[in-house]
Amino acid sequence: MTAAPRAELLSLNTATVREQWNLRQMIEACARHGIRGISPWRDKLDELGVHEAAALIRQHGLTVTGLCRGGMFPAADAAGRRAAIDDNLRAIDDAATIGARCLVLVVGGIPAGSKDLSGARQMVIDGIAAVLDHARAGRVPLAIEPLHPMYCADRACVNTLDQALDICDALDPVPPGAPPSGMIGVAVDAYHVWWDPDLARALERARPERLLAYHICDWLVPTTDLLLDRGMMGDGVIDLPALRALVEASGYRGFHEVEILSTRWWQRDPDEVLRIVQERHQRCS
Ligand code: ZN
Repeated sequence: MTAAPRAELLSLNTATVREQWNLRQMIEACARHGIRGISPWRDKLDELGVHEAAALIRQHGLTVTGLCRGGMFPAADAAGRRAAIDDNLRAIDDAATIGARCLVLVVGGIPAGSKDLSGARQMVIDGIAAVLDHARAGRVPLAIEPLHPMYCADRACVNTLDQALDICDALDPVPPGAPPSGMIGVAVDAYHVWWDPDLARALERARPERLLAYHICDWLVPTTDLLLDRGMMGDGVIDLPALRALVEASGYRGFHEVEILSTRWWQRDPDEVLRIVQERHQRCS
């Protein structure tokens, strides 16, 4: 039996209450509920204003466990790929302004009209390579988030932890006997990786310098929507305490970011949602 996680390691990924609150309300709610970490999405950040958000986050002493999200590199033509790179450079700047511990990369799928999956995967590598120096300069680590293969066509053609780590190793080679730089790594999201038979080995391979974020929720059976039917911890089939034990065994000591995109939970009172998140984090993760 795994001991309950430390309550102060809970972080709120703001997608969890995105239909109920704006970012100011989310920041104030974290402070009110004693939640010490927050991970905003860029639409809400733009709406509030990045400097205003940075000040408010500082005022409440919150840790920004990530900015969601950069990525979406593949495009049908060079102009589209350039636009994606420019957008990622802006995201890196915004992440630096709010003091985010990483910029989460949902890397993108296959360009419209294409069937070239390996070409799309190369565009992802080229896109990350094009922004990595800017990320290093701004001290914003890039966290590649492998997504469940059901999103391969439209959201992310990086689908396993090993595949994401291969990209890290290719773009940021680790010198013999030294640790990885920590400027590129992975975001491990329980929802996306729980099914992977190689997960334990991949987590062992990751090393703490590459493990930049840990996202949690649960996999419901049945799942009725591919995107917006994530479960609250404890309501599904993922053995979250066992997964946390693996993540901790690999050396990760960071936050546990609760990220629940769910039309069910978006209909609930957001203060009640946060109370349940805190209780389930303690009891079921
Ligand atoms: Zn995630």
